[in-house]
Amino acid sequence: MNESKRTLIRAGAGALALGATAAVAQTAAGPLLHLPAAELMPRAKGKRRVVICGGGWGGMTAARYVREAAPDLEVVLLERNPIFWSCPMSNKWLIDEIETSFLMHDYLTPARRHGYTFVQTEITGIDREARTVHTSKGRVGYDWLILSGGIRYGFEAWFGNDRQAIERTRTDFASAYVASAEHMSVKKRIQEFKGGTFVMTLPPPPHRCPPSPYERAALMAWWFKSRKVPAKIVILDPKPRIAPISIGFRDAYAELYPGIVEHVPNATVREVDPFNKVVKTAAGDFRFDDAILMSPHQAADIVWKAGLVGRTADGKPTGWADVHPLFYNAKDDPQVFVIGDSVGAVSPKFGHYPKSGHVANRMAKSVARHIAQQARGEPLTPVIIDNLCYMLVNNEPKEAISVQFDYRIGDDGILEQRQIDYNDRDPKLWAEDLRWASLMYQDFAR
Ligand SMILES: Cc1cc2nc3c(=O)[nH]c(=O)nc-3n(C[C@H](O)[C@H](O)[C@H](O)COP(=O)(O)OP(=O)(O)OC[C@H]3O[C@@H](n4cnc5c(N)ncnc54)[C@H](O)[C@@H]3O)c2cc1C
Repeated sequence: MNESKRTLIRAGAGALALGATAAVAQTAAGPLLHLPAAELMPRAKGKRRVVICGGGWGGMTAARYVREAAPDLEVVLLERNPIFWSCPMSNKWLIDEIETSFLMHDYLTPARRHGYTFVQTEITGIDREARTVHTSKGRVGYDWLILSGGIRYGFEAWFGNDRQAIERTRTDFASAYVASAEHMSVKKRIQEFKGGTFVMTLPPPPHRCPPSPYERAALMAWWFKSRKVPAKIVILDPKPRIAPISIGFRDAYAELYPGIVEHVPNATVREVDPFNKVVKTAAGDFRFDDAILMSPHQAADIVWKAGLVGRTADGKPTGWADVHPLFYNAKDDPQVFVIGDSVGAVSPKFGHYPKSGHVANRMAKSVARHIAQQARGEPLTPVIIDNLCYMLVNNEPKEAISVQFDYRIGDDGILEQRQIDYNDRDPKLWAEDLRWASLMYQDFAR
């Protein structure tokens, strides 16, 4: 039995009473015994189980809809955070336009309502051969597995193994692009900024929610402008132009925040020095007083642990899950699915789906249907998804722009994408945004 399949339990009186629930670190207090990790939830006899890893947009939606589509299956949702925090709408929360209670939802209410089990735990390993998920509380066996772990930050692309630089960057210049305490810190830094240069590095595509960094820059600019903070926001963008909603963001910066927002194209990051506060890019070197440093994004750790990250032609990891473009299951393991931001390219015509909560929600519903079909022994039928994103760019009056993506399977059997940008700032789009978010939370989080 290898290390990942064991839990370490301290020998001696009372050790076994711990119930082998968690890994115990070695201390001078005594030797350690190797024991198999305890089964966290033995399966009811004859009951088949779906385990969902990650209780974000995709995972929570999947938990509800698998229960609805296949009521005979047991559903277990595993998530490290004690409470759901929504990244969508969080840019508006940074400038106090959205209440915390709108973004935060407890995990137990939907679990109770929809009849699934929620376990707050860290997923530490995935053994697809044994159909087992390892967690800090014990192991959980599955018949179907859904991974919806979102993204991880790829700081190694900037710093290699320099942990000091990585930790300094995470601590001082957090980006708040995963649900975590980073949001509190970013909000404080924006609201307490006294003036100077605030740099924002954008990750290279594909990354989580492509238009959201531009929205954040606009709302930060509004905050600084309305409070007369002498600040300049410099967006270091590796792309040649703003995208998506290029014209809408460009006009908002020029018309609403002249001299406050500077967008620098082709600014691929070459070097980051968090100690001396400088970013070196292909478009020049930029010193900063404060910064939101977004490293490249990759699929969440759990996708790597499950061995589902794709490979390029020359054998390098793509950083994203290699799954079927319509069913989202592993090619060699049809009852293992990946959904949401972790999913890799789905079409040679446009690459990745936009990494959005909307897409994660839609993928989760498709996978719920596919699992129900597999459980009944039926062939899988594809579900065509869509995407929609609203971006608030002005706060007085409230005006938003938006982007819509439609998909179809072309005559050649390959997925095609149609993108429609709504570039004209419109209060109606802000109202639609609020309605969209309310309906989404209603769908999976209440
Ligand atoms: C600022 C910002 C604005 C955005 N705006 C929008 C928007 O307007 N519209 C939109 O549609 N999308 C938006 N998004 C994107 C949206 O947040 C993501 O696309 C969506 O959350 C993806 O869902 P997911 O399930 O893949 O990942 P997530 O929602 O991130 O869920 C992943 C979950 O897995 C858990 N997890 C990961 N690893 C482990 C582990 N080892 N053990 C236990 N738990 C684990 C995480 O804690 C997390 O809860 C925005 C994102 C940001 C950052």
